[in-house]
Amino acid sequence: VKRKLPNIKDTILRSLMLRCPACGKASIVQRPFRIAEHCSSCGAHFKREEGFFVGAILINVVITEAVIVMVYLISIPWLSFESQKAIAGLFVIALLFPVAFYHHSWGIWLGFDHFVEGLPHSRVPPR
Ligand SMILES: [Zn+2]
Repeated sequence: VKRKLPNIKDTILRSLMLRCPACGKASIVQRPFRIAEHCSSCGAHFKREEGFFVGAILINVVITEAVIVMVYLISIPWLSFESQKAIAGLFVIALLFPVAFYHHSWGIWLGFDHFVEGLPHSRVPPR
């Protein structure tokens, strides 16, 4: 079955702004560190199945690693003889970045899923 692909630019923008990837009208965040079950505007299902969250965690891990490698490479010229401080700094980033990035990892994962498969709409009317 062919389906019309969502607009990739809209999907990416909505992902980064933590909006529902399907309609863009509501936030995916219910409260800090709590992703909503459904879109409150169009009813798209965000928490679609057991284990669905693994994708968001994977995105978070991959991007955290990328950020650490980037920060490391950028800071080499300044920190070449202070490697202990550099390692401590990278450790702090490794701890704090995934926390700060939590909502966006969900935004990107939901946007990706919406683009690839289309988020299912629940029959339960949104509150
Ligand atoms: Zn929506």
